[in-house]
Amino acid sequence: MDIHEYQAKEILAGFGVPTPRGGLAYSPEQAAYRAREIGGDKWVVKAQVHTGGRGKAGGIIVCENEHEVLEAANTLFGRKLVTHQTGPAGKTVYRLYVEGAVAIAKEYYLGFVLDRKSERVMVVASAAGGMEIEEIAASKPETIVRSVVEPAVGMQAFQAREIAFGLGIAPAQIQQVVETIIASYKAFGELDATMVEINPLAVTEDGSILALDAKMTFDDNALYRRPDISELRDKSQEDPRETRAADRGLSYVGLDGQIGCIVNGAGLAMATMDMIKLAGGEPANFLDIGGGATPERVAKAFRLVLSDENVQAILVNIFAGINRCDWVAEGIVQALEDTPVDVPLVVRLAGTNVEEGRKILTRSGLPIIRAATLAEAAERAVAAWQNSQKHNVKIVVAS
Ligand code: GDP
Ligand code: MN
Repeated sequence: MDIHEYQAKEILAGFGVPTPRGGLAYSPEQAAYRAREIGGDKWVVKAQVHTGGRGKAGGIIVCENEHEVLEAANTLFGRKLVTHQTGPAGKTVYRLYVEGAVAIAKEYYLGFVLDRKSERVMVVASAAGGMEIEEIAASKPETIVRSVVEPAVGMQAFQAREIAFGLGIAPAQIQQVVETIIASYKAFGELDATMVEINPLAVTEDGSILALDAKMTFDDNALYRRPDISELRDKSQEDPRETRAADRGLSYVGLDGQIGCIVNGAGLAMATMDMIKLAGGEPANFLDIGGGATPERVAKAFRLVLSDENVQAILVNIFAGINRCDWVAEGIVQALEDTPVDVPLVVRLAGTNVEEGRKILTRSGLPIIRAATLAEAAERAVAAWQNSQKHNVKIVVAS
């Protein structure tokens, strides 16, 4: 789960990371009020959307008087911000964060990620801050400092100092940077984060260290024990398809293709997506219905895929071990009874109770295209989709 910049800053500040003074606003008037409250003569109005690259997309506006703050807020509220991370759909701005602007002398990048290879938290830092880490890795890889933390002892001061030296931090700021690194690491570990990113971590002209931007991502599987964090969820920033899936306990990732997939097991789901691509199609989603899926659960998954407007053909691929083909078949029939399908539907069932499953589908009289193997299923789904495109008719194949 991702959270907003202002939320990440509040959390990190609680652990001791220095952040600028700021206030949240839900309306232009409130943004102006926040600016007055903060004081000073320069502010930054920042769109709160779950994406990086807001600056380049026009989502960060520096203002020199209250009128400009009002104008900036008027421009940003309700606007769809499209960045390289959001995809063409963009993300809508409903909240703004107003901060006192600071004079930046230098920008650094400071990130904490889970490194799966070493099975440790890894600090990734760079003196080329302000840019996205992907950009830094591509254009200035020599500036990147990596440091793996030993979990038994946590982030030690000497290790944080090493990182700071690696960045070329001046002696006057070393102590503040060390404290920032230790505090961020603590927040990461204590809150089950999977990512903490401060970019830029700025050295200001008066020599202090400030986190000017912050992002945090949390482990969804640990949210049950972090009620304070779950509360920060903002569904307006999520792919609505994924939100619906998460609310139904399904493992779903929305994609841009046309072939909706309903599969059991993450590995089989990945293989199914590969096969669709190999056959010349594009998957509309990754969906793992999990093991032991009841007819109700299958029906929910089905309705979810059907509700995606991009879906122009559906492929059900079940290899039932723990699952039961008859339950899956019942789920399909249930879902199609209340939501008639108007796109080609290809079903491949194998494994436990496969005969019962096939009988249920046959008895239902539904126009289902059958397939025996994964390759055949993918080919038929892609062919059925292409065919329906060409003739602009819905395919009906009696089994
Ligand atoms: P992002 O584009 O989504 O990563 O948003 P950031 O919060 O990182 O803002 C983008 C850029 O705006 C930063 O890299 C800074 O250069 C600039 N910026 C942000 N806050 C301030 C500020 O208080 N003062 C000044 N001068 N620039 C700022
Ligand atoms: Mn940033």
